[in-house]
Amino acid sequence: MTGSELSIGCKYLLPLAGLQALIEVLATRGYLVLGPALRDGAIIYDEITTLADLPAGWTDQQDAGRYQLARRDDNALFGYAVGPQSWKKFLLPPTETIFTAHRTADGFAIAERAPPPPKFAFLGVRACELAAIAIQDKVLLNGPYTDTSYQSRRSKNFLIAVNCGTAGGTCFCVSMQTGPAAQSGFDLALTELITPGAHEFLVTAGTREGAEILATLPTQPATPNHIAQADAIIAHTAANMGRTLDTTGLKDRLQANLTAPQWDDVAARCLSCGNCTMVCPTCFCTSVEDHSDLSGQTATRTRRWDSCFTLDFSYIHGGSVRAEPASRYRQWLTHKLANWWDQFGTSGCTGCGRCVTWCPVGIDITAEAAAIGSENGNT
Ligand code: SF4
Ligand code: SF4
Repeated sequence: MTGSELSIGCKYLLPLAGLQALIEVLATRGYLVLGPALRDGAIIYDEITTLADLPAGWTDQQDAGRYQLARRDDNALFGYAVGPQSWKKFLLPPTETIFTAHRTADGFAIAERAPPPPKFAFLGVRACELAAIAIQDKVLLNGPYTDTSYQSRRSKNFLIAVNCGTAGGTCFCVSMQTGPAAQSGFDLALTELITPGAHEFLVTAGTREGAEILATLPTQPATPNHIAQADAIIAHTAANMGRTLDTTGLKDRLQANLTAPQWDDVAARCLSCGNCTMVCPTCFCTSVEDHSDLSGQTATRTRRWDSCFTLDFSYIHGGSVRAEPASRYRQWLTHKLANWWDQFGTSGCTGCGRCVTWCPVGIDITAEAAAIGSENGNT
């Protein structure tokens, strides 16, 4: 099919070769295409140039404090849930040079700033990750202060969502109403369909650019059969979430139980390592550091991810406000699930499950949130 025949929101069928063509079209248009790839025993996000770069036939098995790859009995390209990384690593990088300055005769001069970021095309964005990007947009673009670095990285993105065909053992997007199907915020959304003798994708455009690019690919109209097949895949994923979180009254319950004994219980297990904040796709806290070289001629200002689990993060004039692990864990959990609503009008959690999987001692946000306030019947 061509050009004007393709419409936003309509469903088409894209063959496997069409996905390769999509990668090539995006590269031709100047996008740096990033997607899932196998590295060091995990599925992470990296540059993709061909379908061979994708983790065909692999899935991930996840539980609290546990992540393991396993072979599937098919060649699905997107047959996993989510890995340790999120798209945050491209939009809000873990470390970033803000500027470098050189000593001059009468002070210092700022050297060239970093070149503009590439145009990113993200292939394989999960529904919970679209929700996380929307949350970071709200905080970093649409709040009282605009983060200009995030703005430049986010301004020219092409997002290809892939609806989940497999629920991870720690996923709870259904509870957070963010998945498993992409609802908005994508240019194209795919559902991977694998049947004996066929490997193809149901595809929908969400934007004009998505429809325009789709029109360059070898598509056909989807049949009712294909649509029913995709609907069944998403329904099966929704019915098999690894975790659930009852959000009814959750904000009020957490805010009313700031001295609950459960905070001490979790603090006795928590290592304050900050892993949960590093892997979380919505956590946005950073610190700015200045370093000079040994000669004192050059200084660099760097921004890096920080975490509310470190002592330094809440250090002000002589002491840390959150000196104990219990207060740091309470800050994190109540911010995510309660106070974020007051600040940004949304939850800070999209139910991706990463913090549960990558906590070295298996602390589970869904279990802790359910326990707070229930020990004294104050639910
Ligand atoms: S708090 Fe945990 S489950 Fe929620 S978005 Fe962050 S990493 Fe994912
Ligand atoms: S909850 Fe787990 S991942 Fe988070 S700081 Fe504590 S030990 Fe680390």
